[in-house]
Amino acid sequence: MILTQNEIREANMRLEHAWPEDVLAWTFETFGSNVATGTGFGLSGVALMHILSRVRPTAIVFYLDTDLLFPEAYDLKIQLEKRLGIKILRLHSELSLRDQAAREGDNLWRINPDRCCFLRKVQPLRQFLASKDAWVTAVRRDQSPTRRNTAVVEWEPIHNLVKINPMASWTDRDVRQYITLHELPYNPMHDWGYPSIGCIPCTKPVKNGQNIRSGRWQEHEKMECGIHSYGIEEKTLGGR
Ligand code: SF4
Repeated sequence: MILTQNEIREANMRLEHAWPEDVLAWTFETFGSNVATGTGFGLSGVALMHILSRVRPTAIVFYLDTDLLFPEAYDLKIQLEKRLGIKILRLHSELSLRDQAAREGDNLWRINPDRCCFLRKVQPLRQFLASKDAWVTAVRRDQSPTRRNTAVVEWEPIHNLVKINPMASWTDRDVRQYITLHELPYNPMHDWGYPSIGCIPCTKPVKNGQNIRSGRWQEHEKMECGIHSYGIEEKTLGGR
């Protein structure tokens, strides 16, 4: 389903200060059940999944398995499924790491991380979202400069669908408080200096006060994996 620019603008006026529960309720009212919620198992993803499991326990939830995630992320998936009573679908590239190395070269993440993210994240996600009516994420404005203009409802030109960000205005502190309050499981690496956790070769710890996502792709200019249009200059916020 496609919303017009005006409909997106009106939705944002209505939802900017709404609780994530209300944003999710609006999402299912507007788009029906063919809505997919993605998670990378970060802190806001944990909070979002908990809220989602209360609003719509049967909702479609997925993660992108690059084959290069930390063991703690795979453990957390199992814990969350058990605790929240949900099933988290695994999306995966058709290309094994071995085939990728044979076709593109060893350690592609070091030589060309954009290409590696495209093959292991963007492509499988694009295929999956092609049959969905909307995509829900746990993106927050405070996560990085590239995300500071995130709207609650926006058109995502990379995947050609409406994206909903119910946690957009939450802060790192809000999310941590929510997780503590509800005693939710989370990745213990967050307590070891890793505020943002992706694939093993592209994630490093950060020092206190550094940007949350500064530990990602430290040897490159790259700030985003490419599944979102954040950081892409000609971002199109409106629909058709
Ligand atoms: S985060 Fe790194 S290892 Fe993971 S898909 Fe992107 S470049 Fe490859």
